[in-house]
Amino acid sequence: MLVDTFGRVATDLRVSLTDKCNLRCAYCMPAEGLDWLPSAEALTDDEVVRVVGIAVQMGVTEVRFTGGEPLLRRGVVDIVTRVAALQPRPRISLSTNGIGLSRSASALKTAGLDRVNVSLDTLDPVRFAELTRRDRFADVVKGLEAAADAGLTPVKVNTVLMRGHNDDEAIPLLRWCLERGYSLRFIEQMPLDAQHGWDRSVMVTAAEILAMLGDEFALSPVGAEERGSAPAEEWLVDGGPGRVGVIGSVTRPFCGTCDRVRLTADGQIRNCLFAREESDLRGPMRAGATDAELAERLAAALLAKRAGHGIDDPGFLQPARPMSAIGG
Ligand code: SAM
Ligand code: SF4
Repeated sequence: MLVDTFGRVATDLRVSLTDKCNLRCAYCMPAEGLDWLPSAEALTDDEVVRVVGIAVQMGVTEVRFTGGEPLLRRGVVDIVTRVAALQPRPRISLSTNGIGLSRSASALKTAGLDRVNVSLDTLDPVRFAELTRRDRFADVVKGLEAAADAGLTPVKVNTVLMRGHNDDEAIPLLRWCLERGYSLRFIEQMPLDAQHGWDRSVMVTAAEILAMLGDEFALSPVGAEERGSAPAEEWLVDGGPGRVGVIGSVTRPFCGTCDRVRLTADGQIRNCLFAREESDLRGPMRAGATDAELAERLAAALLAKRAGHGIDDPGFLQPARPMSAIGG
């Protein structure tokens, strides 16, 4: 079992398949992009599947592929197929910007993918191009449609609101998602951008989002027992069945029930998004470590997990790795 000193058990493994991306979202990356990881430093498909297999033996039941943009990884369908064949079979999901999903949704479903989360921060193509520095709005919409058609449901949409950029879109985005049967979740903007430009005054807080939505919709909270350890607080919209979630990572931290652990594309275990230490699995793996030895390293990495992310601590320091290289 993957347990930390506070008794939290990690059952949800986030696996970054690449740090590369074909968008440059303003809250994530600078317009010029980043220096991508040299391919020799990235785990091979076999290495990824091996680590996931060990984690599954240690009690992981949820595997989410992410990045960077995971659909840029050539072997993604094969990796999903192999992870879906593990015993016990974990639930498998993918976080994507949606570009490329129209081509791969059906193959991913056949491979064993259960669900997708697609990031979309605006319904305005011009604004999309400004926020992501790429003119790809139509591709994302097509990707969402393909995901729903392929049965990768419930299709979830993730939105980050930034004051003065897209904070006027909370209501239109929710309406748009409800009409299409997508489940929308707002995520508070976190200090994890590569350019270290996070500004608390630009972040739109969970309370503000709920106030905006509450003016337009009747929101009734979904019980904590249904939410479990999920970071999103959820509400039924106008009596349901539509729902909306808000992930108040900064102002309503959920560290006390965190069940996550992360594997970066270069084989580092991170026990928290905000961790400043990592535990290397790639080196030992390439030096011939056995599964039992890798499992020991994984367990030790979890033991060192801190109580909380500490964003409000006076000494808070943003981790050196940005969100796109951690795997959000
Ligand atoms: N490229 C894929 C995508 O955009 O969905 C997967 C990786 S992305 C890092 C995963 C999630 O992190 C996305 O929903 C994105 O909106 C979110 N994200 C990125 N930077 C963030 C930040 N600074 N604060 C909050 N969420 C962020
Ligand atoms: Fe790329 Fe996702 Fe970061 Fe946007 S949030 S730049 S799509 S990794």
